[in-house]
Amino acid sequence: MDHNYKEAVCPVCANADSYLIRKYKYQNPIYADCALVGCNSCTMVFAYPLPDADALRKYNEGYFDNAHGGMSTHPLTVAFYSAISLVRMLHVQAFRDKNKCEVKTVLEIGPGAGYFAKHWMERNPSTVQYTGVESDATTHANLRNYKVDVYAKLDEVPHDRDFDLVVISHVLEHTTDPVSFINECTKKLSPGGILFIEVPCNDYQHKSLDEPHLLFFDKKPMQLLLQKTGYGAIKLSYHGNTITDLSRGVSAVGKFKSRLRNFLLNRGFVKLYSATVSGLEAVPDPMERAVIKPFKAYIEQNAPAWWLRATAIKK
Ligand SMILES: [Zn+2]
Repeated sequence: MDHNYKEAVCPVCANADSYLIRKYKYQNPIYADCALVGCNSCTMVFAYPLPDADALRKYNEGYFDNAHGGMSTHPLTVAFYSAISLVRMLHVQAFRDKNKCEVKTVLEIGPGAGYFAKHWMERNPSTVQYTGVESDATTHANLRNYKVDVYAKLDEVPHDRDFDLVVISHVLEHTTDPVSFINECTKKLSPGGILFIEVPCNDYQHKSLDEPHLLFFDKKPMQLLLQKTGYGAIKLSYHGNTITDLSRGVSAVGKFKSRLRNFLLNRGFVKLYSATVSGLEAVPDPMERAVIKPFKAYIEQNAPAWWLRATAIKK
């Protein structure tokens, strides 16, 4: 089908001044008609036109099965997700402490396997309530183990609850209308409360598939989105390997080293890779340190990198 990409309306700044980047790279046919479009005003990149709303809802309901082939229980994968969630959690704690905020109640949108919640509750036992909204019901029993009061939908959360912190980690890039999504999710965030968002930064530039992401952020559109939705003290930062490094790909030697590393880690030779480096001191588990190190999630970069983090305070 032919589309007028120039008039695609930007989901962040609402201007209709766009350009076609290229066709969308997908596997699931719900994305067959999509292209990647860039906004000339705010530099946001987004999928256009969007997949059929019903098809997208069904796809997202089985998210872990559709996009990740089921949730992995492999020890190296578990160590990776646990470590990266700890690094994110420490980032939020540092922002909280710097801004002298008190966090007693948390709302996490899309907690998934629950590692962020687990680390938060372990290190902040004075938290009164941790609420989660997770559409994938297969994760609920596990989340309850981590003391998360979990609901399938946002409107099921008891309406008398207010929150001091809202966590939206690796969710926003899957949504279609980020302004109303942020407004809805943070309606009960108290003024002075913290919003934490993490998204991949422009991952269409280095990944072989665009699926399942619909929104591709860099600092400029993220800043605009947070200003539009009523946030101040906005802190944006890049973390992980830079996009320049990621798009260069991995050499044959690099691939061999990474296979060897996984082989040895799987067989218990964790000490070879677990030495503490600056920024990793706060990750106590040697396996988690070893697994996370090559991804540099604990390093803040000047250049655009794999992950874009945003912390801000509600006005
Ligand atoms: Zn825009």
